[in-house]
Amino acid sequence: MHVKLDTQNCQAYANCLLTAPEVFDLDEESGIAIILQENPPENLRAVVEEAVRSCPVQALILEG
Ligand code: SF4
Repeated sequence: MHVKLDTQNCQAYANCLLTAPEVFDLDEESGIAIILQENPPENLRAVVEEAVRSCPVQALILEG
């Protein structure tokens, strides 16, 4: 599982980090999301998928 962030699209809604704080955080300087684990373990798949769905601007891409 690999997660990517489209930094051009992220509008800092923060849905992703509320849903999966193990994987996403918000950069206080840039104000956009950062990915803490680009290859999260399989046991986080459900929350990562939920976080990807929760992004209102489809800035998160899940591969694999
Ligand atoms: S939910 Fe989407 S727009 Fe909001 S911080 Fe996460 S990636 Fe950015």
